[in-house]
Amino acid sequence: MRNSFIPPERILMGPGPSNVHPRVLEAMARSTIGHLDPKFIELMDDIKSLLKYVFRTENEVTFAVSGPGSVGMETCLVNLVEPGSKVVVCINGVFGERMKSIVERCGAAPIAVEDEWGKAIDVQKFEDALDANPDVKVTAFVHAETSTGAKSDIKTLAEIAHKYDCLTIADTVTSLGGIPLLIDEWNIDASYSGTQKCLSCPPGLSPVTFNDRTVEFIKNRKTQVQSWFMDLNLVLGYWGSGAKRTYHHTAPVNALYGLHEALLLVKEEGIENAWDRHKRNGKLLVKELESIGLPPMVKEDERLPELTSISVPAGINEAEVRAKLLNEYNIEIGAGLGTLAGKVWRIGLMGYTSKEENITTLVNALKNILNN
Ligand code: PLP
Repeated sequence: MRNSFIPPERILMGPGPSNVHPRVLEAMARSTIGHLDPKFIELMDDIKSLLKYVFRTENEVTFAVSGPGSVGMETCLVNLVEPGSKVVVCINGVFGERMKSIVERCGAAPIAVEDEWGKAIDVQKFEDALDANPDVKVTAFVHAETSTGAKSDIKTLAEIAHKYDCLTIADTVTSLGGIPLLIDEWNIDASYSGTQKCLSCPPGLSPVTFNDRTVEFIKNRKTQVQSWFMDLNLVLGYWGSGAKRTYHHTAPVNALYGLHEALLLVKEEGIENAWDRHKRNGKLLVKELESIGLPPMVKEDERLPELTSISVPAGINEAEVRAKLLNEYNIEIGAGLGTLAGKVWRIGLMGYTSKEENITTLVNALKNILNN
C-alpha cells in the first residue's frame, strides 16, 4: 500500500498560493454535508454577505464560482461577450493576455491596449481605444498584475469606460483583501477574484460580483451563453437570492467551509486593517531587500505591496537561488513569467503570509545564499 501524502511545511512567498490560515484548514476538515442541505444553504448566504463585505459592494449577485481564478475570468467574459462583438482588453502582463485569448474564444474581436510589463495600464491609451471604437460595449483590465507586481488605477479606468457607456470587468485576483478595492464606489460592473492570494485560503474558488446593470446586459444577450457551466442565468438557480436553490452542479462543500472561515478572518481583522498590514509589510520587504542590494522593479506609486518583483543581479543563476531557498530553507518564491522569465524573482506577501517574521526569514536566507 502507498503512504499518505504529507506535504512539507513551506513558507509560501511566491505569487500564490500563499500560506493558509490554520483556522481555514481546520474548517475544511469538518464533515461534509449535502450541498442542498438547509444548513449548507445558510452557509452559502453567509458567504455571500461576507464576500459583499470584502468586495465593498451591495451587489446581490456576489458569490463564489466553483473553480480557480481562471474560471472566474471565463465566467465574466463568456457571460458578457457575445460573438461578433468587440472588447477592449488592457494588457500589461500575463493575465491581460489570458483575457484576450478568452475573448477570441468567445468569437469576439479583442482590441488590445498594450503597456510595458511592470507598468500600470496607461489610462490615456485606454481612452484613445474607446474613442476610436465607438461600438465597444465591454472593457476588461487587471487591477493587480501578479506576473509583474504592477497596480493599475481601475477607478479611473472605470470612470473613462462609463463615459463611453461601456461595462467594466476587473480582475481582482491578487487585489481582493490585499489593497483597497471598492467595487461600488469605483463603479466596477463585474469582477472576479481568487481565494489563494490575500484571503489566506487554498486555491480552487473564485469570488465574483456583478452589478444590476451587468445582470440586465446578460439577460438582454441575443445569443445563448456558450458555456453551460458558467452561464450566470443557470448558476443563479443555485446561488441566487430567492432562488429555489435547485441542483446546478455539486458545490465543493469543504472548500466553501474554508472560504467562509477565511472571510470571517478578514472581517475579524477589519478589511482596512488587512490593507494596512499588506502595505506595511510590503514597504518593509522592499526596504530590507534594498539593504542587501536587491531593488524592486516596479516604481513606487505603481507597486503592489503584496507582490514585489525584483531584478535578478547580473551573474546570478536565478533558478539555482530559488531551488536553494526551497530545498534548504523551505521558502518558495516565484520566477518571472513571459518576457520577464529569467530576469526577475516575484516575492509574495499575501494573506496569512504577510507578516514581519517571514520577511526576516527570507532576507536572511537570501543574504546567506547570495554571499556564498
Ligand atoms: N488573474 C490574476 C491576476 C492571477 O494572478 C491569477 C493567478 O495567479 C489568475 C488570474 C488565475 O487564477 P488561477 O490560477 O486561480 O486560475
